[in-house]
Amino acid sequence: MIYITNSDEKLPLVVCECGFKLLILPDIDEMALSIASHAITHKTVENSPEKAEAEYCRIEEMLTQKVLMSILKEKSN
Ligand SMILES: [Zn+2]
Repeated sequence: MIYITNSDEKLPLVVCECGFKLLILPDIDEMALSIASHAITHKTVENSPEKAEAEYCRIEEMLTQKVLMSILKEKSN
């Protein structure tokens, strides 16, 4: 486990429902990759491939939404 602490600047993070923290990256492709690679880990909790795929999509969508909301909030400040 790596803990990133930076007292001067608050790092933008999104927290998954499992508690996993994802750093919001300025590069949209890298961000998407980071979300996808975490969403894959949620596949392992489901037994059927259909359920695993649905769970993957749900997590990916949820995290993407959180990232966008966080960016919008940041911009409005
Ligand atoms: Zn998660």
